[in-house]
Amino acid sequence: MSEKIKVTAFASRPDERVSFNKFEDQLNLDIKHVNNQLSLDVVNEAAGSEGVTVLGNCDCSRAVLEALSKLGVKYLASRSAGYNNIDVEAAKSLNIKISNAQYSPNCVADFAIMLALMLNRKVLTGLKRNIANDFSLPGLQGHEMKNMTVGVIGTGRIGQTVIKNYSGFGCKIIGYDIYENEEIKKYMTYVELDYLVKNSDIITLHTPLFDSTYHMINKDSIAKMKKGVKIINTARGELIDTEALIEGLKSKHIGAAGLDVLESEKGIFHSDCRMKGMNNQQIAILKALDNVVLTNHFAFYTDQAVDDMVYCGVNSLAQFIKTDTADFEIK
Ligand code: NAD
Repeated sequence: MSEKIKVTAFASRPDERVSFNKFEDQLNLDIKHVNNQLSLDVVNEAAGSEGVTVLGNCDCSRAVLEALSKLGVKYLASRSAGYNNIDVEAAKSLNIKISNAQYSPNCVADFAIMLALMLNRKVLTGLKRNIANDFSLPGLQGHEMKNMTVGVIGTGRIGQTVIKNYSGFGCKIIGYDIYENEEIKKYMTYVELDYLVKNSDIITLHTPLFDSTYHMINKDSIAKMKKGVKIINTARGELIDTEALIEGLKSKHIGAAGLDVLESEKGIFHSDCRMKGMNNQQIAILKALDNVVLTNHFAFYTDQAVDDMVYCGVNSLAQFIKTDTADFEIK
């Protein structure tokens, strides 16, 4: 067998190791594991590797990419789907080829539906009361999903799976995307964004973070929404102007929110912050509200998805090194 190809995996978690070990042999790789997220502090760990794999929480800014380039790194494969942490233009100018991961869309789609059900049935309030031995009923009345109009923003892989899941409940489903998908039209109707915002009982976000989607939910769009609207965000925190969301929740114009991602999550979500001070007012406010279910960016986190993510990362590196391109290359 030919000599193993050395690559470095940053932000390598213990729960990924079974998958890494499996694919390391299959793809004839020699994987160096670095537990830390990629940053200027640890970038030198990539010395001797032509390719590195990272997660969405790694710093892939121009400065870090320049440092990788100086070490001879030519390929960077993210094990995450969202790649807004990578300076794509800087990578291009440094001739570093990059890729992202595609994995089971069901992990996030299931989670988005769970958040919607939790909000619709006031589950958080019920659970908090149970802890205090308050088993009373007033205030817990919910809504049935079949009576809801659901607005899906972004009808890509996750958005389409969400639509199929909602169709099982008998909801009316409307959607918006800059590109319409023919196949999904049998489950839903495409509408303009403005119509969706004005007519949805539940708005669920499934677009990537781009300049064009930054703060797409803001003070103006919230003002147009139905009173009592429920907003679900399992995509990226920056899609929502969090200050405007908090205002909407406080004024009760927004009925409830289910948030797996938050603008200010960096350095907090995926860390155990119990023993360190946390100076994040937005999280403190959102956690105090009974009509907000806040989870720490783990919608992706299933056994299936982790295996798919690791495979995508290392398989892209193996493809890049052999052929200078990869199935999920970002061009
Ligand atoms: P995808 O690329 O398959 O779909 C994205 C869709 O958004 C596409 O159909 C695209 O046309 C549409 N879009 C792009 N710009 C738009 C705009 N301005 N307005 C409306 N639609 C627009 O991606 P996906 O696999 O469905 O993932 C969506 C996002 O979910 C990812 O980019 C990532 O940020 C997020 N995500 C979050 C988690 C989590 O754990 N919470 C996990 C995976 C993915």
